[in-house]
Amino acid sequence: MPLRELVCIRCPRGCLLTVDEETLEVKGNFCPRGKDYGMKEVSAPERILTSTVAIKGASLPLCPVKTSAPIPKGKLFEGMKAIAEVSIAAPVAAGDVLVKDFLGIEGVDLVATRSFKKEGN
Ligand code: SF4
Repeated sequence: MPLRELVCIRCPRGCLLTVDEETLEVKGNFCPRGKDYGMKEVSAPERILTSTVAIKGASLPLCPVKTSAPIPKGKLFEGMKAIAEVSIAAPVAAGDVLVKDFLGIEGVDLVATRSFKKEGN
């Protein structure tokens, strides 16, 4: 029964979890979110991807972006390559969907996390 120790990152309390890698039994969680996190982290780890994309006509050259939900950890590199191909133009509002179903993952969009007005003419 291989055990894995990890720290729950779902809230600042940071419970130390022990997860049985075979049964996915989680111990050390103070609340149910830790159980969910521990099981997912061992069986199918996911992360929210954050980065920036090029933006034209704004006060800065880059617009911060993130995925609207976590994506499989194994797709992070593919996601960074896909983001490098994206460029947008101002104006943009925080929360605007820039790429729907990012990487073909249904329901997960790439969204802007900062608003920019159109600069200049
Ligand atoms: S198990 Fe619950 S209380 Fe503990 S860190 Fe995770 S979310 Fe926070």
